[in-house]
Amino acid sequence: MKFTVSTADGHARAGLIETNKGLINTPVFMPVGTVGTVKAMSPEELKEIGAEIILSNTYHLYLRPGHEIIKSLGGLHRFMNWDRPILTDSGGFQVYSLSALRKIEEDGVHFKSHLDGSMHFLGPEEAMLIQSSLGSDIAMVIDDCAPYPSSYAYAMTSMYRTIKWAARCRELKREGQALFGIVQGSLYEDLRKKNMEELVGIGFDGYAVGGLSVGEPKEDMHRMIRFTAPLLPENKPRYLMGIGELGDVLKAVEAGFDMFDCVMPTRNARNGTLFTSRGKLSIKREEFKADSGPLDPECDCYTCKNYSRGYLRHLFLSKEILSMRLNTIHNLHFYLNFFRNMRKSIEEGMFGDFKKRWEQIIP
Ligand SMILES: [Zn+2]
Repeated sequence: MKFTVSTADGHARAGLIETNKGLINTPVFMPVGTVGTVKAMSPEELKEIGAEIILSNTYHLYLRPGHEIIKSLGGLHRFMNWDRPILTDSGGFQVYSLSALRKIEEDGVHFKSHLDGSMHFLGPEEAMLIQSSLGSDIAMVIDDCAPYPSSYAYAMTSMYRTIKWAARCRELKREGQALFGIVQGSLYEDLRKKNMEELVGIGFDGYAVGGLSVGEPKEDMHRMIRFTAPLLPENKPRYLMGIGELGDVLKAVEAGFDMFDCVMPTRNARNGTLFTSRGKLSIKREEFKADSGPLDPECDCYTCKNYSRGYLRHLFLSKEILSMRLNTIHNLHFYLNFFRNMRKSIEEGMFGDFKKRWEQIIP
């Protein structure tokens, strides 16, 4: 994997990640394909709207159908028929957020499956083995995500554990698979800094900031975004994990982050909330009943080119499968287009204007 920054506008960067499976223009939004599918979308449709990389979840694929099954069926790319880059998370965050029970030890974490209550263990060895079986292009180290709020003592213990696990993952790094480190440390600047310095000492292909958007106030999230980004190496991709509200994305890109993932565009689409050039819209509203116009007059996606708001409202209220499909196509197209335009604004030295304009639409 190779990363180059082509243009900088303030701290905002336009860059390029080169992988064996294709190019990734940054800043990039990675649609989330939790269980090996970006919900409601075929791989062809994802390519059609310009997705360059997707994210998939180790925790989910490990529990079902199991990484060995996926490996025996040719790896995740073959399994889901997606030939562009895939980033897999390590499973650490899902163990933290989904598992009914978890017990952290020095070598990893015991957890109870949210599917059938069975007990499992995930540590650096397991996380690297699973991601190697999946054959993702970018793997993530397993980290210990401290909950919000966390005491300084707890956050420090979890931060040192994260460093220890990251070092072990680095030893197990597989040829041909990039590996990113993850910075934890809750809302404590000195812990974040210490974690980052240790990770850089170990040496990774990219650096992620995790443990944000876990319930902390927005001001604290923004403070940590501004604090962490400039500390991360300039010549490596910087990934802000799990944050995808566009207002937050703008602040993060301004600070110097390059990579993002979030279930928001896909999940909201299925719930009938759609992003448009004029802000969010709920398609179920009465006012759209006889509306012949497109979702977003400025959008050129398949949904907007072919269907009216009146029809989309009808599909949604009738709980038709097509509703989820058309809404997802639009929302992901909107997101990817937003990122493309943001990148262009950086290249043109106009990111400040871009940010200001969108902050009036999406406060
Ligand atoms: Zn559209």
